[in-house]
Amino acid sequence: MIPKRHVRIVSLVAIVLASTVIPMQGCGSSDSGKKPKFVAIGTGGVTGVYYPTGGAIARLINKKRDVYGINMSVESTGGSLFNINAVMTGDLQFGIAQSDRQYQAFNGIAEWKAAGPQRDLRAVCSLYTEMVTLVAADDSGIQTLSDLSGKRVNIGNAGSGTRGNALAVIEAAGLDREKDVRTEGLKADESASMLQDGRIDAFFYTVGHPNGSIKEATAGLRRSVHFVSITGMEELIERSPYYMKAAIPIELYPKASNKENVPTIGMATTLVTSAAVADEVVYAVTKELFENLESFRKTHPALEGLTKEFALEGLSAPIHPGAVKYYREVGLMK
Ligand code: GLU
Repeated sequence: MIPKRHVRIVSLVAIVLASTVIPMQGCGSSDSGKKPKFVAIGTGGVTGVYYPTGGAIARLINKKRDVYGINMSVESTGGSLFNINAVMTGDLQFGIAQSDRQYQAFNGIAEWKAAGPQRDLRAVCSLYTEMVTLVAADDSGIQTLSDLSGKRVNIGNAGSGTRGNALAVIEAAGLDREKDVRTEGLKADESASMLQDGRIDAFFYTVGHPNGSIKEATAGLRRSVHFVSITGMEELIERSPYYMKAAIPIELYPKASNKENVPTIGMATTLVTSAAVADEVVYAVTKELFENLESFRKTHPALEGLTKEFALEGLSAPIHPGAVKYYREVGLMK
């Protein structure tokens, strides 16, 4: 079930877009004309990392409105799945999405099994590494993944990328997602207060670090909390080309009970678009992002490690020709 707030955001996007249908169709043609091109980027919950990242991308592009005539708005959404689907329907022109979701959508697997391969999905770049993060209350008795048995756990809303990762990890740990765990399907934004209020024992959130949601959860106003290691995932990593081993740097969350970095799995956070979006629009976005890399990196600590080389890692959909044009110009692609 898609939570109500999510539906409200979707309809807001629809309203905003309804008034911009004509200029947006203009984006698909090579005639740039005089009218501004309205594009929207889908992100995630406001306390995640996608939202500030999308905001930083939009600021870069809007600053050059005189040059490109592009007006980019930022939408808070349900996450990766929602963003990919909205980019495919044309409701959004750009979306931030986990690399596992990009892979699955392009190949028509997981949630895209019924709809089939999303062949018009295009990659722009990778941005940073995000990690499957499991946060549990100290008093919940959850020390290892198998302790999730019988516990109330938020695995994330239906439009999130988080949800699929949570279910994959639960299964890889030998638990039955339906019988063993009492799962909730709420947005990540709600997890911290739910945990502090004692309404859940733990929550999953696939996200870059540090981020506001986890800081709020670890602040421990009522309950102290810790991260649970996600280990024993070798087989899952082996059969999934997009997962890699990662570790949550514990110094980012000094109030969590853990003393050491927390091993887990991660994937790239990527920027996606559609083949239907004009080359010059994608070119402008790619160029502004990488020509201003220094300042872009400073907009969020999760972006600190971004390099032009990392930009091309972890992409499984074809790279959009507008982005390819820029990468060729700077010698990143032949
Ligand atoms: N990876 C999350 C998702 O796709 C979103 C993380 C974020 O908003 O930073 O659901």
